[in-house]
Amino acid sequence: MSDTAHKQTLAAQAMGFVDAESKAIVPPLHTATTFIRDPDNQYRSGRVYGRADNPTYDHAEAVLAALEDGAEALVFASGMAAATAAFQTLAPGDHVVAPKVMYWALRNWLTGFARQWGLAVDLVDTDRLDELRAAMRPGKTRLVWIETPANPTWVVTDIAAAAEIAHAAGARLAVDSTVATPVLTRPLALGADLVMHSATKYLNGHSDVVAGALVTRAKDEYWARVRTLRAQLGGILGPFEAWLLLRGMRTLYPRVDAAARAAMAIAAHLEKHPRIERVLYPGLASDPGHAVARRQMQGGFGGMLSIRVRGGEGAAVGAAARVKVWKRATSLGGVESLLEHRASVEGAGSPAPPDLLRLSAGLEHVGDLVADLEQALGGR
Ligand SMILES: *Cc1c(COP(=O)(O)O)cnc(C)c1O
Repeated sequence: MSDTAHKQTLAAQAMGFVDAESKAIVPPLHTATTFIRDPDNQYRSGRVYGRADNPTYDHAEAVLAALEDGAEALVFASGMAAATAAFQTLAPGDHVVAPKVMYWALRNWLTGFARQWGLAVDLVDTDRLDELRAAMRPGKTRLVWIETPANPTWVVTDIAAAAEIAHAAGARLAVDSTVATPVLTRPLALGADLVMHSATKYLNGHSDVVAGALVTRAKDEYWARVRTLRAQLGGILGPFEAWLLLRGMRTLYPRVDAAARAAMAIAAHLEKHPRIERVLYPGLASDPGHAVARRQMQGGFGGMLSIRVRGGEGAAVGAAARVKVWKRATSLGGVESLLEHRASVEGAGSPAPPDLLRLSAGLEHVGDLVADLEQALGGR
């Protein structure tokens, strides 16, 4: 495949891979857990055992590295396996900074397991750069973690500015780019060192695979430790899931484009709705993150938005109960539109406002999605 091809072309053709033996245009699925040792006692294939890697990973990892302009990618059993590996590659005693508003399960892991394990974890509003700067402990802070746009309020953090702040203190910047996807944002080009994806979401895109990925800017010592940790902890992806992920990524560009258009149309439509207090979406000119989002996102603002329903928690849960086209379910980034009352999912201690519904726009006709929300909200 030509070096000048657009990323969309690389994704659609899975980098033009053709099987050398059969000339098949779809790569085979390798289920082997072990590989032959050469008679002279060497492993020239570079492969020994299926907990370290699998030939089926190669294609998905190569596509991901290319889409993110990274040096290399690694797939994991889940987004959480990928994210926690990025932290466990550090040593107890190291200091990390992460957002107050972020993916709930990872926030829980950071304030629970990671602290017990010995990481010094500070949570700040990373969109406020002065707060981020003040949290840095030069020489001690090893990793700054940001998520943008961030669950479930879609607060936008300036990646280039965060990278400068992290690097000035001798730390790496990692970006959970699950919601932005490589279609809309390329964190490594903006100065980040590491990108994390829950590939369960847009990358696979069909709500039928749990997977995660890390992409690195450089194949350095830190990255070598991440690779070792994946093999040691065994948080590996099944080969069939890796194969499905590669198939899902072929349609990543048109899916993300359609979801972002739908989300923009829904956000604009609901902004003036009498039953809605506020629409949270970085694509709206009124959104506090809009200016930064315009700078660091290209081609759209993503398929995720939240609405704060007038009348509080009861009104929000009541509206969720009435949807028919939207599916009441957690997760995001699939072909079907999902809606959920986030505070109910997160439970006690959740920073999610009780009147907030999180919406993942899918690929249905946007007219059906808007009409369904209209009837669920009522009051026109
Ligand atoms: C889903 C999600 C994760 C966790 O990924 P899993 O694949 O569910 O383990 C992390 N970050 C974000 C933004 C997510 O949406």
